Amino acid sequence: MDSESWACSSVEKDLDRVVTKLEQLRDNASADVGDIAMLMSDLVNALGNAEQMVTTLNSSTQVNANAPSVDDPMGDGVSMQVETEPTAPQRPTDRHMEVIRGAILKCNERVQKLSTEHRDLHGSISKIGKAIDRNFSADFTSTMRVDVLQDEENLMLLNKAIAKHYCRQGMDTVARTLIKECKMTEDQAQDVFDSEREFADIYSIWMKIQKRELTEALKWTKRYSPQLMERHSLIEFRLHRMRFMQLVSYGVESQNEAVVYARTNFKKFALRYEHEIANLMASFIYLPAGLENSPYKHFLGQEMWTELSFIFLKDACQLLGISKNSALSVVVNAGCTALPALLNIKQVMQSRQVLGMWNGCDELPIEIDLQPEFRFHSIFACPILRQQTSEDNPPKKLTCGHVISNDALHKLSNGHILKCPYCPVEQNAEEAVRIYF
Ligand SMILES: [Zn+2]
Repeated sequence: MDSESWACSSVEKDLDRVVTKLEQLRDNASADVGDIAMLMSDLVNALGNAEQMVTTLNSSTQVNANAPSVDDPMGDGVSMQVETEPTAPQRPTDRHMEVIRGAILKCNERVQKLSTEHRDLHGSISKIGKAIDRNFSADFTSTMRVDVLQDEENLMLLNKAIAKHYCRQGMDTVARTLIKECKMTEDQAQDVFDSEREFADIYSIWMKIQKRELTEALKWTKRYSPQLMERHSLIEFRLHRMRFMQLVSYGVESQNEAVVYARTNFKKFALRYEHEIANLMASFIYLPAGLENSPYKHFLGQEMWTELSFIFLKDACQLLGISKNSALSVVVNAGCTALPALLNIKQVMQSRQVLGMWNGCDELPIEIDLQPEFRFHSIFACPILRQQTSEDNPPKKLTCGHVISNDALHKLSNGHILKCPYCPVEQNAEEAVRIYF
């Protein structure tokens, strides 16, 4: 086990302990809160009874109470009679007082207990923080570029990325609060919502599928059916299949509905999913015994729904040409992957006193190997100079079709004449065109 996984498992152990504690506390607390609620409702009843007695007795003196009197220094005509002159029968009975006192005492005890347990939990949670500090390097300052955020425009870009992230997940109120507090301009705020609206819709459908609600998803796939078919997407059939199995799982009463559903919706998939549909139809024979006791029981499991929701998310995003991850989450995740390597190289650079190489340039001093999901653009390395092409040194396509970097092109050309290093066709260097990956 390398040191990083060892550190992870060590923190995980502490974390498990706290989670168990948290679960215990949750159970205890809900029991306590239930007790307190009961005591409180007893208390409210007791007070209500006492008040009723007071009101009954007061109504006979109502006329006097409403007339302003010399005893009323505020002159607002409000009767102080209940508090100032409680006659003997208006007091709650001893039994009431006993209930009230008892309830308050018990409530206080429970609340005290809850708060002690809560304090304990805080202690345990802060231990996790310490365990993280102990096991992992917490000092990332060396890799930070705080100076970047000194710039107003950059700071606003960051705020915008954060607002977009919230907006995508339907947390519009959070996004709006951020927009207000960071004083974002109207235009930029509008852009946040406009750019993420499509994804927010998809996201809400995705959440609904996970909650086993298919209506919205089916509506969406119906609208985009031709495009989905064209892309050989599985999602429309999968959704109908799930809805059908859902109907079958309701038992014999829904049998007719399921048959009608299959007739209406499986027709257009008859050719492509012939066997699968035949297979689904056989589920009816298990109806009397219940679907949970049949080979179809996996349709009832949560994994099936989660998988379905993710296929929907992926296919819908692909169809609309939007990313399924927010820019913020991509940056944070890619950054986390890169961090250990960056910390290492920074140390090396520090010890060799070549830190200046890092600051001031947009490129990182080393290549970071990220997962394919983080790769968005193809890169091109010049086969002649063995360097990655850049804005300053872009790739150029020669008339013969071979591609080399601009620098290589200049080095190889003699005046306007260039002999391709590969084929080797002689051509005019001016005719090479820039290409974009
Ligand atoms: Zn060539």
